[in-house]
Amino acid sequence: MPSKFKKSLTKALEHGLNYLDDLDNFPAYPQASLDELRSAINKPLNEEGLPPEQVIDDLVNDTKNGIVGNSGGRFFGWVIGGAVPAALAADWMTSVWDQNSGMFTVAPAASVVEETCGNWLIDILDLPPKASFAFVTGCQMAHVTCLAAARNSILKKHGWDVETRGLNGSPKIKIITSDQKHGTIDRAVRLLGFGTDCLEFVPDNDDGGINVELMDKKLAEFEDNPKIVLLQAGDVNTGFVDNFEELIPTAHKHNAWVHIDGAFGLWASASAKHKHLMKGVNKADSWATDGHKWLNVPYDSGFAFIVDRESHYNAMAQKAAYITHIDEARDQMSWNPEFSRRGRGFASYAAIRELGRKGIEELINRNCEQATAIVDGISSLDGAEVVSAAMLNQGLVRFLDPKENATVEDHNERTKIVVEKINNSGEAFFSPTTYKGTFCMRVSVSSWLTNDNDVKRTINIAEKVLKELNK
Ligand SMILES: *Cc1c(COP(=O)(O)O)cnc(C)c1O
Repeated sequence: MPSKFKKSLTKALEHGLNYLDDLDNFPAYPQASLDELRSAINKPLNEEGLPPEQVIDDLVNDTKNGIVGNSGGRFFGWVIGGAVPAALAADWMTSVWDQNSGMFTVAPAASVVEETCGNWLIDILDLPPKASFAFVTGCQMAHVTCLAAARNSILKKHGWDVETRGLNGSPKIKIITSDQKHGTIDRAVRLLGFGTDCLEFVPDNDDGGINVELMDKKLAEFEDNPKIVLLQAGDVNTGFVDNFEELIPTAHKHNAWVHIDGAFGLWASASAKHKHLMKGVNKADSWATDGHKWLNVPYDSGFAFIVDRESHYNAMAQKAAYITHIDEARDQMSWNPEFSRRGRGFASYAAIRELGRKGIEELINRNCEQATAIVDGISSLDGAEVVSAAMLNQGLVRFLDPKENATVEDHNERTKIVVEKINNSGEAFFSPTTYKGTFCMRVSVSSWLTNDNDVKRTINIAEKVLKELNK
């Protein structure tokens, strides 16, 4: 019997290879306007069905000017990363198999893959071997999962069962962190019913990290409250890593739960060269990180790790009466916020197998060196300066208005123009940011594809843009 799938899957393979093999010549950021995209994509709803291969052809053609080249080697916006070939192919297989990966009974292989991969990740990231884990959509939901476990644990210690009683009338939780925390923390705090009013900010040191003495004082101020301390392994602007060795014991002295936002930075633990930055991080209570950033797994890949398995389970477990559970096997729905879900462990499993421990370490080291090379290369150009030297794979530069008595606003405007011109060239892509009041260009390197030539091309385009502006 002829395959019902061959035509559309063959199309997908052809289009996929055309795209990926041409990334080097493809603009790092697409040029189509919103109106152009709408006129290509927003078709009238069809009454009759279409042949699947035509649907795929149209999809590729209609979207092509709106596809961001973040899978390539010169995309340095946000913290994105590409996808290593085995992870990409495993992601395709995940859709081919279409497993409902909530439970062992429904998707046994998916369950064992996540069980295995979770333990590999604990090993790679040097986390406590007994930690429980969940494969979630991204660091955002990893925060939610970890903080739900935290909520269960710290309130239980105050004699309050949050799972049955909720937060109405509960002891008041305080979350202590820095104002440089990532935006996803805010939303996790809102989703879990803590409310953003529970956030207390401890001022940073000049270097960007939380001040230990001020943290100690702040914790003492709320001695009687259930508390969570949120620390960063890798600030999204500067790559800065908090001083875990001092901050975590300080937080524990005050009975606070310590959660680490390590979306990309936690991967420094996989590198002998950068691991010293993570000293003491494994004494925390929970960690959130991503697979879709630095591990170069396709999107929809984040990981939550929690030492207190019981609180994790109590916060998440879902046991429906009509479902058969096999007690020894892993039922993801007991650890995850979802019920039915994609078998998202397959792609991470494949990425780790493809890279191996060594390949992951090399990827981390290489991207860090490239970030330094780009920050140093661009900031040494006429009219540029470094704002924050590369730490891990992140750094900040800005561009200076050459006119006499130029103000901060002038430099901000100049930086905005240079970033726009670099991005419009298609040669490289950077996202801007405002760091402590200064408008900057963020340099963020996390793709397995970025090579020396990409670094060179990137510095060259910045040089060209600056020369033209200074003419
Ligand atoms: C990207 C990022 C997040 C959010 O992760 P998602 O995977 O996008 O949900 C949180 N914290 C930091 C530091 C990040 O870089």
